[in-house]
Amino acid sequence: MSDLRELYQSVILDHNKRPRNFREPEGANRSARGDNPLCGDKLIVFLEVDGESVKDAAFLGSGCAISTASASLMTEAIKGKSTAEAEKLFGGFHALVTSDPTAPAETRGLGKLEVFAGVREFPVRVKCATLAWHTMHAALAGGAQAVSTE
Ligand code: ZN
Repeated sequence: MSDLRELYQSVILDHNKRPRNFREPEGANRSARGDNPLCGDKLIVFLEVDGESVKDAAFLGSGCAISTASASLMTEAIKGKSTAEAEKLFGGFHALVTSDPTAPAETRGLGKLEVFAGVREFPVRVKCATLAWHTMHAALAGGAQAVSTE
């Protein structure tokens, strides 16, 4: 278990240090701002949505390691998926990080996102981990909306 925890931590640290899809895509046609005042995390999620397909996903912003790594891994996870699949991943991710830490983690279908299972033990970090996802959801819902975790 501690090896697994170290692996999780190294993935999160890597994505914080070198966030993937940290850019504003030229073809972006959806975006939303997310703000987690509790921690100081701020980000903008950009999506290029073509019909039912998320052709591109990216973000810009600044925040703690958990929020940055979460946004980075999220953009990787939803790129190329359908909008319905992206929402389904959000549901699975949200259920994972808010589940009982003493129960076995339900990570089926989440792929690399399972590295956030450890967040369950730190309720104050849940908002950091889910900020990018709430913001992506707002962007999908349409237009430039602002999301605050407060
Ligand atoms: Zn944070």
